[in-house]
Amino acid sequence: MRVGRFAPSPTGAMHLGNARTALLAWLHSRALGGRHLLRFEDLDAGRVRAWAYDVTRRDLEWLGLGWDQEFTQSERTALYGAAAARLDAYPCTCTRREVLEAVGAPHGAEVVYPGTCREPSARVPGRPAALRWRVPAGEVCARDDLSGNVLCQDLARDVGDVVLARNDGAFAYHLAVVVDDALMGVTDVVRGVDLWPATPRQVALQRALGYGTPRYWHVPLMTDYAGARLAKRGGAPPVMALREAGERPGRVLSALAQSLGWAVPEEVTAGELLPLWRAWATGREGGVD
Ligand code: GLU
Ligand code: ZN
Repeated sequence: MRVGRFAPSPTGAMHLGNARTALLAWLHSRALGGRHLLRFEDLDAGRVRAWAYDVTRRDLEWLGLGWDQEFTQSERTALYGAAAARLDAYPCTCTRREVLEAVGAPHGAEVVYPGTCREPSARVPGRPAALRWRVPAGEVCARDDLSGNVLCQDLARDVGDVVLARNDGAFAYHLAVVVDDALMGVTDVVRGVDLWPATPRQVALQRALGYGTPRYWHVPLMTDYAGARLAKRGGAPPVMALREAGERPGRVLSALAQSLGWAVPEEVTAGELLPLWRAWATGREGGVD
């Protein structure tokens, strides 16, 4: 049985870009005759909005993108703790600023953690510590079935030791997503291409935990006229606003399909888009099987 999922972060109202990813994930699960899961990724408590769970559910139902089972990551932290305990990890007391200084990078830069706290004497006693996974040496590759792309990274050089839990105790996304996809039996991950660069480290985590690797289908992100990616904070139209303004869901689905270049009538149901997803995905490298 194939299993797919949509994994929103309940940090605000879904915008059209989130809805398009939700639509594609749903289409893929249904095209395969598989199960479809809804998983709330709410481990970053400071960013979660309590109302966003219900708004997300209602938006998805309104669009006709139903799910077979629902999960919430904040209820599953014991599972992430058990997985983290099986990994070769160490406490890291570095502040963000210290990491930047250690590699000589400016404020705000994305940097590779240089492994400072691999050395126990470098840890500052009494400071809250994050938990970092000592990444394995060598290259790890991920494959994307939609594009046929393969991405190989030397994690130690390109990524650095991966944070499994932050210094406030919150488990990190990369750990939770890997544990959940494995324990939920997810076979097919359809998600935004923004997560493609993070896929090799997730594959490495899967291997370290003895899990299999699902198939990946990274879909393009929706952009505005200027080519900027839609963001919850950037004024992108929330689905909720369209719903409450009396817009018809079939017209929103049609607009989402048209944004992918699919030729569709002005009003469609999600089910009517199934053949278009098949054709679109098959026209690329991997196909949908
Ligand atoms: N929760 C992530 C997001 O909203 C998606 C994670 C995933 O699909 O692996 O961007
Ligand atoms: Zn450190």
